[in-house]
Amino acid sequence: MSKSLADKFGRRIRYLRVSVTDRCNFHCKYCMPEGEFEHLSHSCILSFEDMLFACSVFAEMGVEKIRVTGGEPLVRKGVTDFMHMLTDVKGIEEVTLTTNGSLLEKFADEIVAAGIRRVNISLDSLRPERYRDITGGFDLDRLLKSLYIAKKAGLDPIKTNTVVIRGFNADEIHDFCDFSVRSGVVARFIEFMPIGNSPDWKQENIVLGSEMLKIIGEKYDYEEIKKEHHAGPAKNYRLSNGGRVGIITPISNHFCSECDKLRLTADGKLRPCLLTEEEYDLKEPIRKRDREGLIEAISGALCKKEKEHHVVADKRNERYKRTMSGIGG
Ligand code: SAM
Ligand code: SF4
Repeated sequence: MSKSLADKFGRRIRYLRVSVTDRCNFHCKYCMPEGEFEHLSHSCILSFEDMLFACSVFAEMGVEKIRVTGGEPLVRKGVTDFMHMLTDVKGIEEVTLTTNGSLLEKFADEIVAAGIRRVNISLDSLRPERYRDITGGFDLDRLLKSLYIAKKAGLDPIKTNTVVIRGFNADEIHDFCDFSVRSGVVARFIEFMPIGNSPDWKQENIVLGSEMLKIIGEKYDYEEIKKEHHAGPAKNYRLSNGGRVGIITPISNHFCSECDKLRLTADGKLRPCLLTEEEYDLKEPIRKRDREGLIEAISGALCKKEKEHHVVADKRNERYKRTMSGIGG
């Protein structure tokens, strides 16, 4: 079998995001606002053994890098052992983690022992009241403490992810630039995607990457850092204050032509594109440990990966069934 998984547009697929749970201990307003929320039932969630089997088949087909995500991945019991086992899967060169950071205080050492180094942490405000408000009650000081514990434990590089929303945190872009210097993290800014079920979503709240860069330029000189090979979708900049930032523009300047990703949801669906609703159920071949059947299902789904997504900034995609917490971002 070919060890080079590619779609019909010739894009080589190297990267799999695995969502281990759709549950979360936060209620970020733009992702999982407080109130009624329908979670996946336990019976349809893949076990870690199922996920390991699936990942080993993806690796056999050419996937080299896996990012563990959620919901909040660290709320699922046994996830650090799972990550450890993932790092041992033949063909997997790197396992990384995306987390809200709240449980790093408890798990940082285990994560390092599991062989993980690269971690992305969501951080949407540096102002305690705002942070509490957006996360549904978490304490900013505690999060910052967790972040420093993670750093001390050896997690490196640490990148923060900030979804920039007008009227909420867009006035903190300079603060994040300074935070990058103080903390040594790469502060990344993400365009607010018009999906999810936040009642606060409004088109005028979207801040496009070009505007973020303009705001940065009002205070700092910046220089674009040349991308490493397969470095992901962010454009990275070195700032005159010594900080480093990244800007991710899924809406205004999508990176579909370079997309090298697939996503596996906690209930065993393969999602070829974050911003295209189509999903393909892999649960049956995964649970039956049917390697051939799984390869066939993955290859079939990959053939249907679209050339690009069709989400635009001026329209909310009402059709979205899954929120980001269910897909894994
Ligand atoms: N709970 C973890 C966390 O918050 O990092 C991992 C899952 S979360 C769904 C992954 C990423 O998706 C986070 O950085 C979050 O800010 C981002 N996200 C969620 N909803 C979004 C939206 N509507 N637009 C842009 N980014 C979003
Ligand atoms: Fe949870 Fe992450 Fe969504 Fe916030 S963004 S509610 S931390 S899954």
